[in-house]
Amino acid sequence: MDIQKKQLDVVVVGGGLVGSLEALYLAKRGHRIRLYEFREDIRYTPQARGRSINLALSVRGRRALKDVGVETHMIEEHGIPMKARRIHRMDGSTYAIPYDARTKQCIYSVGRNYLNARLLQESENYSNVERYFKHKLVEANLRKGALTFLNTDTNETVHVTADLVIGADGAFSAVRKAMMKQPLFDYSQKYIEHGYLELCIPPDENGGFQMPANYLHIWPRGEFMMIALPNQDCSWTVTLFMPFIKFKNLDTKEKLLAFFEKYFPDSIDLIGKDKLIEDFFAGSPSPLVAIKCRPYHVEDKALLIGDAAHAVVPFYGQGMNAGFEDCTLLDQLFQKHNDNLAEILEEFSNSRWEDTFAISDLAMYNYIEMRDLVTRPSYLIRKAVDDF
Ligand code: FAD
Repeated sequence: MDIQKKQLDVVVVGGGLVGSLEALYLAKRGHRIRLYEFREDIRYTPQARGRSINLALSVRGRRALKDVGVETHMIEEHGIPMKARRIHRMDGSTYAIPYDARTKQCIYSVGRNYLNARLLQESENYSNVERYFKHKLVEANLRKGALTFLNTDTNETVHVTADLVIGADGAFSAVRKAMMKQPLFDYSQKYIEHGYLELCIPPDENGGFQMPANYLHIWPRGEFMMIALPNQDCSWTVTLFMPFIKFKNLDTKEKLLAFFEKYFPDSIDLIGKDKLIEDFFAGSPSPLVAIKCRPYHVEDKALLIGDAAHAVVPFYGQGMNAGFEDCTLLDQLFQKHNDNLAEILEEFSNSRWEDTFAISDLAMYNYIEMRDLVTRPSYLIRKAVDDF
């Protein structure tokens, strides 16, 4: 006998990278999805403010994009392969360290807004997905699946209930805040003493790349580092990671230029002196936080995924990729447990945290690897790791 499956009513809070991917996975399963996002629709805004302009997409993330049918487009038409790290020495000379010389796997630089917009656009193909922008979650009773949103356009409050609430609302998640009232919910957060600031290397005068394109460029300088990922328009997004105190000390353009001439001399002409000064002083460095918590669920009603569940520092390039993997694993559990939410949510919580805690620790460690150890002979690495 063919038993008709119940269509679940799911609310996804947060239409960032992970929330918009999760909406697609659930839409494919035939459930009703309402996606609520605090910001306006990034498909129609020139450059929504967000963390990091581009990201490294790895095999975990690709797998998820493949499942929802957008991997080929992202890889073949948009992503820029990065086959190796390209290390910039102090004297401006460079050398490459391949990611995978044997099987030639690589990571891909993708635009954050482009990918997010692509996922949202894909959801238009499903009549069972509704999207609500400029809706901020302000209150939640997770046991009842009852949520209150503020429509920031009209200032009206909107009340909704759902069979399942998925919190994909990022590192400062309002869903997680509501979950913290549950007994036995463990939570910790760690801000590191380093912040980051984004700069830009524009295309050359012919519209091409100023540096070899298929690399993740790194200027490792021990206590701090700079990296650059290529963009589709042949520019580079350059990110300087450094202790906040060091940022603070660079308080005049003379000090800034002297610092760059000492540590990143080859980058000055690439960025352009005036642009370097303008961009450096235009904003302040952003903080970096790592969050661990568990369990990720409340009964059969609510679940955290992505940064809401496990924000990590960006040095392993795995935050988004791990969030995408959450969606893949969740989909497998929907299949395994035939949409039984109590079983799905419990197994996700119990089986996922060890891996996300491990990624978090690896990401912390990899900052030392990227900014320092990458330049050292292996016997010195052993000592530095022991000291760490
Ligand atoms: P977010 O991207 O934070 O999305 C959350 C969404 O929820 C947002 O759209 C927000 O507006 C919305 N929201 C928040 N609160 C509410 C509310 N109350 N109501 C409704 N909506 C709400 N990861 C990688 O895999 N590779 C990389 O190379 C990489 N590089 C990075 C570089 C930097 C500098 C940083 C900071 C991070 C990097 N990451 C990288 C990590 C990656 O950015 C995150 O892991 C990823 O953005 C997480 O996606 P998310 O959808 O869970 O959260």
